[in-house]
Amino acid sequence: MSYNMMEDVERILISEAELAQRVKELGAQITADYTGKEILMIGILRGAVLFMSDLMRAISLPVSLDFMAVSSYGVSTTSSGVVRIMKDLDENAENKHVLIVEDIIDSGLTLNYLVDNLKSRRPASVKICTLLSKPDRRKAEVQIAYNGFTIPDYFVVGYGLDFAEKYRNFPFIGVLKPSVYQSAKQSAKI
Ligand code: 5GP
Ligand code: MG
Ligand code: MG
Repeated sequence: MSYNMMEDVERILISEAELAQRVKELGAQITADYTGKEILMIGILRGAVLFMSDLMRAISLPVSLDFMAVSSYGVSTTSSGVVRIMKDLDENAENKHVLIVEDIIDSGLTLNYLVDNLKSRRPASVKICTLLSKPDRRKAEVQIAYNGFTIPDYFVVGYGLDFAEKYRNFPFIGVLKPSVYQSAKQSAKI
């Protein structure tokens, strides 16, 4: 069976090499900022997994990992604004330097909720590191300490980001052809 990766992608927005370079820079910056500290990285499942695994290897400090899962968009491409925790932390975040690792901040609703939620657990600090940010679509204020790339309002896939659970394994960030989600909408009648 042949698989044409580019079939559903309009164009590549961020190449594999650009991703690798930026992740290195973020890792160096985080290493400098947290010198002498230990980091508890909290990855937001599932989109942040690829970014997180590369980012942690670019950080030369003690790093431990934990994960949270929050309610997702399902087959839609916009946020419902309702955030539900589907999987909570396994570790205690108290007195830890928490670094939330996210794939993309769009409306900001998810992270706005999560930051408040994590702050209530009395960590030593909470910061956000996101691979991508779409500031044009912000509805809730979010302070981003580390941002890989600011992008326009495109629906993107790859390097962990999905549409209906597909495309996460693409090594680049690509713009999804609108026809892909338009036809999914039609068949799901949403
Ligand atoms: P927010 O609450 O900031 O609107 O939504 C954040 C989440 O929505 C992201 O973690 C991601 O799962 C999803 N999301 C937002 N924009 C995009 C996009 O362009 N592509 C993909 N694949 N997911 C997106
Ligand atoms: Mg996410
Ligand atoms: Mg998704």
